[in-house]
Amino acid sequence: MKRSIYIITLYILFILPACNTTTSQQQPAKPIATDSYQCMPCGSSCDKEEYKTAGECTHCKMPLVNKSTINFKTIESGAICNYIAAHPNAVLLDVRTKEEFDGKATPNFGTLKNAINLPIQELENKLETLKTLKDKEIIVYCSHSHRSPRAAYMLMQNGFSNVSNLAGGMSVMQDSTCKK
Ligand SMILES: [Zn+2]
Ligand SMILES: [Zn+2]
Repeated sequence: MKRSIYIITLYILFILPACNTTTSQQQPAKPIATDSYQCMPCGSSCDKEEYKTAGECTHCKMPLVNKSTINFKTIESGAICNYIAAHPNAVLLDVRTKEEFDGKATPNFGTLKNAINLPIQELENKLETLKTLKDKEIIVYCSHSHRSPRAAYMLMQNGFSNVSNLAGGMSVMQDSTCKK
């Protein structure tokens, strides 16, 4: 009698839980997560909101894009000068106006040494002029990182393979060693 109680106890403690585990493993896999959408990267706080369907951002009216297509990298402003020194072949792309790039706009946040300038307004039509850079690393920036995330997104969407955005833009740059 004692022995059978012992066996039943063993059964409850060890065999049953093991069976449950097996059962749950045999259940069908959870459905894969559905697509999620977010505001076209524009550097505003609305970029962080998620939507279940495509459409436009309820805050800034930019088109929503599939979150999985946003795959450019981010470089923090405190790290950018060291990063450039370690990646001397990276192309520095200033997407502000020519006046801003030339330091003739007020306020003047300066620009980076050896940068090239292609304003965001012209970027889409002039992508062809950048085609030799498709496989190069490109670091995009502006003044406050409001224009550059959109430019970085556009480049990745058009086959540029390695694009980073400078977080915060020139306005938050403390390190002047890589400034022009
Ligand atoms: Zn946005
Ligand atoms: Zn938005």
